[in-house]
Amino acid sequence: MKPRTGTDTLTAPQSAHCAEALAAGSEVVLEGLGVARGVAIGIIHLHDAGAISVPEWRIAPGHIEAECIRFTEAAVRAGHQVEQLQEKAGRLGGSAGEELGYLLDAYRQMLHGSRLIRGVERRIRSERINAEAAVQQEINEIVRGFEAMDDAYLAARVADIRDIGRRLLRNLTNTPYRPFTALPKNAVIVTDEMTPADTALLDPKTVAGLATIQGGAEGHTAIMARSLSLPAVLGVAGLLKGLHGGEHIIVDGAAGVVVINPTPATLKIYRRKRAEFLRARRVLARLRDVPAVTRDSARIVLQANMELPNEIAAVLESGAEGIGLLRSEFLFMNRDDIPSEEEQYLILKDVVERMDGRTVTVRTFDAGGDKLAPALGCAIGPNPSLGLRAIRLGLARPELLEAQLSAILRASAFGPVRILIPMIATVEELRTTREIMNRMIRRLKRQGVAIADPPPPLGAMIEIPGAALAADSIAWQADFFAIGTNDLTQYTLAIDRSDEAVAHLYNPLHPAVLRLIQFTTEAALRARIPVCVCGEMAGDPRYTSLLLGLGIRELSMTASNVPVVKNRIRNTDLVAATKRARVIMDQSDSARIAQLLDGFNAGEE
Ligand code: PEP
Ligand code: MG
Repeated sequence: MKPRTGTDTLTAPQSAHCAEALAAGSEVVLEGLGVARGVAIGIIHLHDAGAISVPEWRIAPGHIEAECIRFTEAAVRAGHQVEQLQEKAGRLGGSAGEELGYLLDAYRQMLHGSRLIRGVERRIRSERINAEAAVQQEINEIVRGFEAMDDAYLAARVADIRDIGRRLLRNLTNTPYRPFTALPKNAVIVTDEMTPADTALLDPKTVAGLATIQGGAEGHTAIMARSLSLPAVLGVAGLLKGLHGGEHIIVDGAAGVVVINPTPATLKIYRRKRAEFLRARRVLARLRDVPAVTRDSARIVLQANMELPNEIAAVLESGAEGIGLLRSEFLFMNRDDIPSEEEQYLILKDVVERMDGRTVTVRTFDAGGDKLAPALGCAIGPNPSLGLRAIRLGLARPELLEAQLSAILRASAFGPVRILIPMIATVEELRTTREIMNRMIRRLKRQGVAIADPPPPLGAMIEIPGAALAADSIAWQADFFAIGTNDLTQYTLAIDRSDEAVAHLYNPLHPAVLRLIQFTTEAALRARIPVCVCGEMAGDPRYTSLLLGLGIRELSMTASNVPVVKNRIRNTDLVAATKRARVIMDQSDSARIAQLLDGFNAGEE
């Protein structure tokens, strides 16, 4: 994203001199992807990787090659990460971009056959220690050598070497960044990249907002920020340049704008904007207890997506009729061990009880991709989004799936529960999962443990294009469908949902995505099973009439979006929306589709 000009602010050509402008106390306006609405006004807290705890162990002679390969993979990944940063630096332009480019080039060289790489491999082989320990030792030695030389240039390179070392260690250990403790009130987290696991650690009571260089609008970091109602702008190129922490900052999560060192005039504008946003939210909150019905009286079910058990209050507050998607993988994050069946059961039982008779749809762990749960050992692999993740991981490690299914079944004794399986690609995966679930049901019954009778329905997430195209056969094995439009869009268009570099290409209105949604919905309706949309599309009022027009009657979304979507539903005429959806489905051009949809929405307002 390009830096933007503003009144009394840094102008675009000056952006390369961001650092000088900031040093002079001038206002700097930057643009990125607005991913979570709201306005944060606070103080910059620069978030760094911090210390990474480096485990050390001895390697058996027979495992040395495998350890070297593990290290090479981490270095290759680090190389790709640096390349991505270089591309961004290129887009920055000017002398700042050039300077950053040189630095990153040096980083890349450090990752290819350098003393560092050779040194680490040598230590793994000769000292028979794990890759993490070898990286740490090698970095320490190089740094000691540089520091002893008493040369200003080399001293400055020490930071670079440490940075590369941290990147390698993070790749090797899947270490989440340092937890956020002792933050001042109104801290705005500013950083290169936030993982979804890290974002889950933020406490909206102290953290006012989030701004990062990396990250796309549909990645789980963005989703997590929305869940926490934390104004967030991701994908802000050049964000960290010249920052020391402690500067004043504004994050406008709707407009995708970040203002550093705002002038009094700018502060006044954004304070007003924030007040307007909060007022609009209060007005919508009044819809909490009114039903989600269209103008022509069609009843729509609105549910909430949930990541962490502590979101329950917000879910109940939103007026959601249930939980349409509980992303259980978050229970596995930010810890070194795997939660036991008992621990999972107690958490889920609490959620089910607090939902007080409303349905809770628990998705089995969808770890993998950008959601790393080190203890689960999900593959990083060459392409994490296509690797051993979600149900594939569950079927590869049935003991994990069995424990989780058992925990969910036990919780089902306390209220209506549905079980949802992520990343289903084939009928066989669902069939095998059902067999495992049935085995767990028999075991629990034998042990005299109470579970729901009849047992919870078993549903499939349809989020892989192949599954959508096979939806009619999967529908015969599934008790319900949940369409995951985030991954469906990602995999259909081959666009990484969490990569800001391709965020402008991520488009759920692409005819291919819409056809897959339509095909899946119709397959579910023919098989007479419920079908819900639980991707981010469901929570965006722009898409509501289209989804209803395609036959969807259940939507599940970030709790804070329930009132705004309900408002849209109550202003929608279903007959008209159905006709319009037909017109839209005849189009082949997504720009035309967007135009038709926006025109229709404007007419309904
Ligand atoms: C989706 O893919 O649309 C979905 C709801 O699941 P997640 O965002 O957790 O991948
Ligand atoms: Mg998904």
